[in-house]
Amino acid sequence: MDKQSVTSGRLEETLDPEDWGELRALSHRIVDDAIDYLSRVRERPAWRNMPEPVRESFTAPLPRTARPLDEIYAQVVENVLGYPMGNIHPRFWAWYMGSGNFTGALGEFLAAIQGSNVGGGNHAAALMDQQVVNWCKEMLGFPASASGTLVSGGSVANIIGLNVARNVKAGIDVREHGIGEQPLCFYGSDQIHSCHRKAVELFGLGDRALRRIASDGELRIDIAALRQAIASDRASGRLPACIIANAGTVNTGAIDDLEALVDLAAEQDLWLHVDGCIGALIRIAPENAWRVAGIEKAHSIALDPHKWLHAPFEAGCVLVRDAAAHRGTFAVTPEYLETMVRGLASAPWLYDYGLQTSRGFRALKIWMSLMEHGVEKFGRLVDQNIAQGHYLSRLIEAEPQLELVAPTNINIVCFRFRAVDMPAERLKALNTEIMLRLQDDGTAVISDTTVHGQHCLRVAINNHRTQRKDLELFLAEVVRLGQEIVAEGDAA
Ligand SMILES: *Cc1c(COP(=O)(O)O)cnc(C)c1O
Repeated sequence: MDKQSVTSGRLEETLDPEDWGELRALSHRIVDDAIDYLSRVRERPAWRNMPEPVRESFTAPLPRTARPLDEIYAQVVENVLGYPMGNIHPRFWAWYMGSGNFTGALGEFLAAIQGSNVGGGNHAAALMDQQVVNWCKEMLGFPASASGTLVSGGSVANIIGLNVARNVKAGIDVREHGIGEQPLCFYGSDQIHSCHRKAVELFGLGDRALRRIASDGELRIDIAALRQAIASDRASGRLPACIIANAGTVNTGAIDDLEALVDLAAEQDLWLHVDGCIGALIRIAPENAWRVAGIEKAHSIALDPHKWLHAPFEAGCVLVRDAAAHRGTFAVTPEYLETMVRGLASAPWLYDYGLQTSRGFRALKIWMSLMEHGVEKFGRLVDQNIAQGHYLSRLIEAEPQLELVAPTNINIVCFRFRAVDMPAERLKALNTEIMLRLQDDGTAVISDTTVHGQHCLRVAINNHRTQRKDLELFLAEVVRLGQEIVAEGDAA
């Protein structure tokens, strides 16, 4: 005992257990339960509402003293595992999410056990982080000389890509002087994701710097309108900086004409950033890769391994063709962290490529599932989801009570239940009610959106557990519920 613990009369403490054996038994049970949980996901409802006592449990006060881990685990089973968002369920198609995988979950666990901070340094986790970034480059056809970084998700990946674009195109030293009055303009279609607005606001440019260009009948950016906007901004003294291309819009899965945008960006000397959170990984899918031809020529790309690689949340990635520009945007390595000739600090600092200093070991979960299945299987799963999207669309077209509201491009289907002579507002209420009853019943989870002014239901099939029979069951329920709600309205 050291002097202090003698004087205080207290033993030094640790968070490690007194009895590792007991912990081992409980941990084995947790893994067994987890396998049961995942293997039986199809038998449970896609979503269910939390009863009041469960909701209440989350207002319990800060615990002051110890309690047994098995009791805590029982609470987690009861209150947390019983009420998931549902995106691991085969009939979850809301917004746009991946459905996870068990190996990825093991990766999360082992990453936490190994415990490394991947801010950088000479250790295995840092090398694996770089390896996974290199694999992402390879999947997207980026050169080995490009850089990249794993981040929390697509939003941050986009922000980092656009941040490099801003600094490169600002015409001044933004890092030293700030953006000042430089009237930079970013261009994207009216379908772009909200994270781009957050980006320009964060950059001090304001939302007005983000030019929303009209999209065409296929919901792709109108190239002629874009060209005109760039010209008119130049004519009025503004500084066009960057085109943000969509490889898969959130609304309908539309993919901008990437080849045309590559040419336009080159001609206009603009940065081309591709928001590929949905569609970048289509490049690994043999039947559909043609849809994203040209993506490999972008200056930067954001992609989302927690979507079509089904990594457990969170995992995003940004790739930047010009590694020096990327590092030049973020590197702040202070002297005391300068690289050593040998030892733990004799490796590049990975936090020089983004906003975080401490970084989690996100790579392991991606690495393990890519190693286990191989990239070809992930490519086939992308093809499978796209084929399912088109299958669902054909079922909709064959059903007189349903109609497509937007063309189906990839795995996102926008449609609605129709009732003869029903005004738009009531139609919206009817379709919303169908969506909510599907949730209440635990049948399926979908979301809704508005496409060119028309409200619709939206099914985004980014799910390796979905089967065609799930889509058939879902549509039968939509029709049944639609008729039921119409009949209730007629009775009222
Ligand atoms: C999901 C998505 C984002 C945001 O990605 P997160 O991983 O949710 O942060 C951005 N753009 C598009 C097109 C997306 O689908």
